[in-house]
This record gives sequence, structure tokens and C-alpha cells, in this order.
Amino acid sequence: MKLRVLSLFCAFASLQAIAQHSTPDIIKTNKGSLSIQPIEHASLVLSISGATIYVDPNGADHYKGITAPNIILITDIHGDHFDIKTIDAIKTATTIFIVPQAVADKMPAADKKNIVVINNGTHLSKSGIEIDAIPMYNIPDGASAMHTKGRGNGYVLHIGGKLIYISGDTQGIPEMRALKNIDIAFVCMNLPYTMDINEAADAVLTFKPKIVYPYHYRGQNGLSDVNAFKNLVAKGDKNIDVRLRNWYPTK
Ligand code: ZN
Repeated sequence: MKLRVLSLFCAFASLQAIAQHSTPDIIKTNKGSLSIQPIEHASLVLSISGATIYVDPNGADHYKGITAPNIILITDIHGDHFDIKTIDAIKTATTIFIVPQAVADKMPAADKKNIVVINNGTHLSKSGIEIDAIPMYNIPDGASAMHTKGRGNGYVLHIGGKLIYISGDTQGIPEMRALKNIDIAFVCMNLPYTMDINEAADAVLTFKPKIVYPYHYRGQNGLSDVNAFKNLVAKGDKNIDVRLRNWYPTK
């Protein structure tokens, strides 16, 4: 009997471990399958043959069992995007850090040789992946804004013929609305830090990505209503695939 209780407990414990993250989504590209793994809040992992990209890694425990990163992409200086403790735990000797200048300035000296700085409006190519840095900021812009224009980066990644937009912390700025041909978008929505679901839906309905993941949606008053976001987008354009995933797994 004791053994049976123990084995039941073990089965439950392993189920718990598996239940932590959403199952990765697989997208077909002209360079093979792209895996999209939601991690937590602003953190995700994109993997394709030859490259594993961690975006804003946070919490080393989340990455157990996931291939080590070739590239760590960071959007901004705030702790939910740039966490040195996590980076130290998960980086390898060859991991490249692609970051805005404000983040590079805060990186430890030991990592400097592996940093590639990219700022708003610029482009680079690494491990067969093209990367554009897009502005991310609050409106009105100004010294008192939580995210001032020019400091952090949103990104558009070109992977195997697909365009993938990662918003970073931003409102529905003109630069987001002007994006074209985005296949997959990760869009933030949390107050008071970024925007509410109405503004996010309005921006998404303007640039019309094929797939959109609400992410970064834990705000001061808990989680934003991403189901309501999905309904708003569906009302405006039923062809946009809104994908709700578990971005807040229990640890
Ligand atoms: Zn944030």
C-alpha cells in the first residue's frame, strides 16, 4: 500500500513538472520547423535547426531540459527582461548577447566580448537569423515615461522566411502599427507599464499579424483579460489567429 501511495505521488510530481510550461508550438518555415516555447511573462525560447534563441530569460529553473542558447536577445534594462543571475546560470562560453546599448552598459565585464549591440532602427545578422531593432516606448514619450524611446528594443526576427515580432514593453506606437507582413507577433498588455487590451487589440488590428500571442500581461492588478483581447481581435478580423498560452506557470 505504501508503495502504491509513493508511486501515485511520483506520478503526480512528474505531471506537475510537465505541466509547468505550455507545449511548444511548431511553425513550418523554409529552414525547417521553428519551435516556439512560452516560458514566463516576457520570456520565450525560439528554436530552429542551428539556433536556439532565448528572449529576455528570467528564472534559471525554467530552462531545465531546454537546449542552451546560441543567442540571448534582451529588450530592456528592467528586471523582468534583463536578469543577470539567470543569464549567468544559463549562458555558455559561446552564447552571443544581442542587446540595446543601455543593457550592454550594465553587463558584467566578463560578458563584454560576446555582446553585439543593436539599437532602434538598425539591423544585424547572426547564426543565419536577420534581426531588426524596433522602438518600444510609452506615450507620451519623455523623461518621465517608464520606457523612453530609444532605450529598449522591440525586435523583428527573420527566420526561415517568417517574420516574428517581439514587442518588448511598449504602447501601440506608430512603429508597431506600421509593421508589414508579420507572421507571428508577441504583444505585451499590462497596466500601468505598457498598454491595456483595447489599445493592444487596436494596434494588432492595424498591423494584422497572421498569429498573435498575448504575452507580458501581468500588471499591477493581476493578469490582463486575454480572453477579452482575443474577442476584440476576432470581432475586428477573424483571420488573425490569437493564441492564448500559459505565460504564468507555477514554479
Ligand atoms: Zn516588462
